[in-house]
Amino acid sequence: MNKQARIFVAGHRGMVGSALVRRLNAEGYHNVVTRSRAELDLKDQAAVNGFFEREKIDVVLLAAARVGGILANASQPGEFIYENLVIETNVIHAAFRAQVERLVFFGSSCIYPKQCPQPIREEYLLTSPLEPTNDAYAIAKIAGLKLCEAYNREYNTQYVSLMPTNLYGPNDNYDLNSSHVLPALLRKAHEAKVDGSATLTVWGSGTPRREFLHVDDLAAATLFVLEHNVTEGLFNVGVGEDLSIRELAECICKVTGFEGELVFDASKPDGTPRKLLDVSRLAQMGWHATIGLEEGITSTYREFVELHAGSTAAAVMHV
Ligand code: GDP
Repeated sequence: MNKQARIFVAGHRGMVGSALVRRLNAEGYHNVVTRSRAELDLKDQAAVNGFFEREKIDVVLLAAARVGGILANASQPGEFIYENLVIETNVIHAAFRAQVERLVFFGSSCIYPKQCPQPIREEYLLTSPLEPTNDAYAIAKIAGLKLCEAYNREYNTQYVSLMPTNLYGPNDNYDLNSSHVLPALLRKAHEAKVDGSATLTVWGSGTPRREFLHVDDLAAATLFVLEHNVTEGLFNVGVGEDLSIRELAECICKVTGFEGELVFDASKPDGTPRKLLDVSRLAQMGWHATIGLEEGITSTYREFVELHAGSTAAAVMHV
C-alpha cells in the first residue's frame, strides 16, 4: 500500500480506531484522515456523502460502531442494531459512490452461530441460530460484511471484512454496565485491592470460554491484510486459544495483585458457551498474533491505572 494513501479511520477515538492510527503512524502512513463525532456524524447520510465527495479518500478502515458487553447488548438491542446498520450502510455506500477502492470492515466473532463447532471457521457463518444476548449486534455486523461482499461482486470494489475475537487494550471501556469482561474484571480487581475487599464478583458461572486478542495485534493484522493486497473475503483474527472466565479472572487477580476470593453471580447471563476462532486463514498467509495474554493484561493494567485510577492507586500497583 502506498505510504501516501489517504486513509480514513472511522471511529478513531475508540479502542480499535485508536490502535489503527497508532499503527499507521508507526509504519509511516502519514496521510491518515480522522473526524470526531462532532465534526462528522456517521449516522447522517448526507454528511457522510459530502465528506467522501470532498476528501478524496483512498482507503477506509471502518472501525466506528456501537459496541458493548453482554449486558449492554442484551438490554439495548434496538440501539445496537440500528446504529451499526446505519453507520455501515452510510460509510460503505458513500465510499463506493466516491470510488474508494479499498475498505476494511471490522465485525466481531459473535456473528457466528451459538452452537458452532470449535474452533470456528469462517465457513460456519449463517449455518444455525445466533446467541440471543447479542443477536441484534451480530445481525448488523453480518449485514455489513454481506454489503462488502455484494459490492465487491457487483462493482468490483476491494472490501475486506475482519472478525476479531474479544478485544482488549488501550482506550477500552471500563464502565461496569456496558464493558466487556476483561476490562470489567480489571477494574473490579483493582478497586477490590485498593478497598481491601475480601471478594471479587464475577458474572455468570465462570465456565464460558473466551479468546482475547490485544487490539494492537488487530491493528497489525489489518496492516498485514492491506500490505498483502488482500482484495476480498472474511478473515477471523484471534490468537488461536481460549480460557475459561474463571481462568481469566485468576490471571487478572495475579496481574493486579488482588488476593481475595472469587464469587460467581449466577443472576447474570453466561452468554455463548464458547467462541474460539479458527485463525488458519490468516495464519496460512503468514500472520500470527504476538502479544501474550498475561503480557497484554499487564500493559493494559498499567495504562488503566495511569488514566483512570488516579495517582494514589498507582502506589498499590504491582506491575
Ligand atoms: P460476550 O463475549 O459477548 O459474552 O461479552 P462479555 O465480554 O460481556 O462477557 C463474556 C463472559 O464474561 C460472559 O459469560 C459474562 O457473564 C462473563 N463476565 C464475568 N464477569 C463479567 C463482568 O464483570 N462484565 C462482563 N461484561 N462480563 C462478565
